[in-house]
Amino acid sequence: MAQTFRRRPLWGADDLLRWLVFVLAGAVCCGLAWYWGSGVATLQAQQGPLELTVSGLVLISYGHVVWLLRARRSVGERQSQLLALWLSHDGSEATLTIDDIVPAIVGSAGTDALVGSDDVLHFHRATCQMAHGRVWEPASRAEHERAGRIACPICRP
Ligand SMILES: [Zn+2]
Repeated sequence: MAQTFRRRPLWGADDLLRWLVFVLAGAVCCGLAWYWGSGVATLQAQQGPLELTVSGLVLISYGHVVWLLRARRSVGERQSQLLALWLSHDGSEATLTIDDIVPAIVGSAGTDALVGSDDVLHFHRATCQMAHGRVWEPASRAEHERAGRIACPICRP
């Protein structure tokens, strides 16, 4: 059975355009401030150019933050798709979100299930906030302890 993944890049053309607008606007502000403030030696005369420079830097920073947050959102969406695909086991395109998937895992394992992973120190109750959004296989307390994990100090399984 062929798997149909809808591969979406981290950023789209609109994200690139938004980033470019903010970075260019910020660069223009900084350039104008430099031009405006050059040749004047008094502190008071440089107050305006300084404020314009700070505004430009804020615009550039905002553009970068929005750019990174968009990528983070794309990764989260992709993670949800892959989790849903993994759960469905039939390779079909799934439209579930992480909030649909986690209760299904918790429900199938039972609310008293203990979950953990090889790359974490603690094991948790499946309902623990520290386990929220994770896809960890449930196991018994003995199995977790044999794997070197200790009980979570928050949910105290
Ligand atoms: Zn916990």
